[in-house]
Amino acid sequence: VKVSVDHDICAGFGLCNDALPEVFELDDLGFSVPRGDGSVPAQLEAGAAEAIAACPTHAIFSERDPAPS
Ligand code: SF4
Repeated sequence: VKVSVDHDICAGFGLCNDALPEVFELDDLGFSVPRGDGSVPAQLEAGAAEAIAACPTHAIFSERDPAPS
């Protein structure tokens, strides 16, 4: 799973960073930015799903990794 954050929607509450700092960091203005390319390690996928559900503005999106070909 990869996560992305829509900066037009993120209000910078930082809940995702509080919940899952391994996946989300905050930029200088306090808005969330996925670390690296947004890939979520398998062991953190459940936490990422919770962070997505907990975001007050529903600014976090996830996409499944493409199936290996
Ligand atoms: S929880 Fe949502 S609104 Fe808050 S910083 Fe994360 S993406 Fe932005």
